[in-house]
Amino acid sequence: MKIEENSVVRFHYTVSEPGQGQIESSRQIEPLSVLIGHGNIIAGLESAMKGREAGETFEVTISPAEAYGERREGMEQRVPRKHFKGAKLAPGMQVVLPTAQGQRAMTVKKVGISVVDVDLNHPMAGKTLSFDVEILDVREASPEEISHKHVHGDGGHQH
Ligand code: ZN
Repeated sequence: MKIEENSVVRFHYTVSEPGQGQIESSRQIEPLSVLIGHGNIIAGLESAMKGREAGETFEVTISPAEAYGERREGMEQRVPRKHFKGAKLAPGMQVVLPTAQGQRAMTVKKVGISVVDVDLNHPMAGKTLSFDVEILDVREASPEEISHKHVHGDGGHQH
């Protein structure tokens, strides 16, 4: 079957920044299983998958707008160090902190004695990303998966 809204796709991917080398790959770990059409993966990759079938491999280059968005200015914030609960911090580190908008990934810029400067841009914001994808299998999602907006079972949520 071809990939469409509410397909469950299991695939391997390698993502790199053109000219910068590999960022990460599922090859060293497990393939990813995602439910298509619910924002579980970046928009550009989701649309590149539609209409494809198990066994296909493809490459796609995705602009920041279709990936993690453009980098925005004024996203730096100073956070009291106590919020990091004693974690060892260094510039460049990715951390996740609860914010008013829920859990949020940020990058540590500068570590002070009592405060930490962080950048709230997504670490991949502003990056053009190139994906190398191999589609392993495609199936229809169950009604339960569609109502939960994620995959159950192998490579998905276990609950
Ligand atoms: Zn669920």
